Amino acid sequence: MKQIGHFIDGARVAGSSSRSKDIFDPNTGAVQAQVNMATPSELDAAVASAAAAQIEWGKMNPQKRSRVMFAFKEAVEAEMDSLAAMLSSEHGKVLADSRGDVMRGIDVIEFACGIPHGQKGEHTYGAGPEIDVYSMRKPLGVVAGITPFNFPAMIPMWMFGMAIATGNACILKPSEKDPSVPMRLAELFFEAGGPKGLLQCINGDKEIVDAICDHPTIKAVSFVGSSDIAQYVYSRATANGKRAQCMGGAKNHGIIMPDANMDQAVKDILGAAFGSAGERCMALPVVVPVGEGTAEKFLEKMLPAIDAMTLGTSTDPDADYGPVVTQVHKESIEANIDKAVKEGAKVLRDGRGFKLQGHEDGFFVGPTLLDNVTPDMETYHDEIFGPVLQIVRADTFEDAVRLPSEHQYGNGVAIFTQNGRAAREFADRVEVGMVGINVPIPVPVSYHSFGGWKRSAFGSANQYGMEGLRFYTKVKTVTQRWPEGETEDSAFIIPRF
Ligand code: NAD
Repeated sequence: MKQIGHFIDGARVAGSSSRSKDIFDPNTGAVQAQVNMATPSELDAAVASAAAAQIEWGKMNPQKRSRVMFAFKEAVEAEMDSLAAMLSSEHGKVLADSRGDVMRGIDVIEFACGIPHGQKGEHTYGAGPEIDVYSMRKPLGVVAGITPFNFPAMIPMWMFGMAIATGNACILKPSEKDPSVPMRLAELFFEAGGPKGLLQCINGDKEIVDAICDHPTIKAVSFVGSSDIAQYVYSRATANGKRAQCMGGAKNHGIIMPDANMDQAVKDILGAAFGSAGERCMALPVVVPVGEGTAEKFLEKMLPAIDAMTLGTSTDPDADYGPVVTQVHKESIEANIDKAVKEGAKVLRDGRGFKLQGHEDGFFVGPTLLDNVTPDMETYHDEIFGPVLQIVRADTFEDAVRLPSEHQYGNGVAIFTQNGRAAREFADRVEVGMVGINVPIPVPVSYHSFGGWKRSAFGSANQYGMEGLRFYTKVKTVTQRWPEGETEDSAFIIPRF
């Protein structure tokens, strides 16, 4: 059985803990590897190596840091196919989605390559009589990134791309469900010329997350995962005086106005609800048809579109989506569908008990469509994180603004309409962090930044872009004056060379 340890101080190590967890092949249900759960003393060793590496890296001129980021980007691009295959084999998403996962991470590395410009600081000449003021953005030192299973390439790169380019060392703690890609990324960074110890990968679960939050040398924690754990990590890390940005769960709504281009809306919502088996924090698991007859028009096109979808293994080039990540997660999705039915939802398509021929033990869940979902149902409020689309019918535009605004999560939302004025007002008023207008998954490009509102994010800094740059740096401001010297031998006389 393949054993996965950690990447510490520039080398793969086996891991000394007696605890490990199984990694599954979601296509077959078989255990394909085991990952060791790091101990706090392994974290200590990694942090010591990171702190040593950061001293020189933090002082290095930004153009040299940028060159290492460029070399890393090229190394990732050269391994795109093998990284995507590795990712699909542990996560279950289809290869095209895995390539997208790696590509979105590369986008952030590209942004990070521009760090000499981004980290320049500010300068005021003559803020007072012969007084100049300048500020610089200093790295924090050693920082940590804790990531979820659903984007094992992109989210680690969001974090360590920005952390390292700004002059920090980074300890990455990926999801224990699919750690192979983050491990390879850490190794690739080293192979591409990154200093030993600057980026390390420690595998583990709650025990090591707690140790990261408590470690005195770690100055900042970036977390992405489910909301309860995001809030817990935020509280624990900040109680220990660290900076923290902790992104949580989501339940994004797709609003369909009566004037929407229905063909386009259905195509977009199909991909956003069921793509990657719904395991995306920017998926659209709730659709809100607004006004009389809109739901019927939507269903007329959505039902055949769902029936035409193909479920397959993660390597099947014809599959629209593959299995979910674990049997436990499959059971949780199916239990949520059971509960929705008990709460009064009408099942229009039922993905429970789906078996893929030849892969009967794989973690597949068929596409599920639930109608007549209402805001008082628990399954409307909870994140299901599977291929389940819930329809909440609304009468008016005001309802369309209110539903996502009053929901506990506020990650993303999309509105489908041909009315620019309605779209503009919706974008202005809705209490959600990322808004799409005729764009189903409005993940901001790398030079903007990513972050939700309410229980979708704890802490004030978004991921990547200039917000990410600010999160990983602290500002020092110098106010200087060089008065004329009074005596001939004064050191204050301008030297003439
Ligand atoms: P998760 O919360 O189970 O795990 C996330 C990380 O926390 C992992 O590294 C895990 O090892 C660690 N962890 C798990 N239990 C812990 C505990 N009790 N104490 C401390 N650490 C613990 O999330 P997941 O299932 O891997 O990922 C899916 C979740 O992530 C969904 O809720 C999804 O919406 C969310 N997500 C959010 C965003 C965003 O940017 N808002 C992006 C992607 C995923």
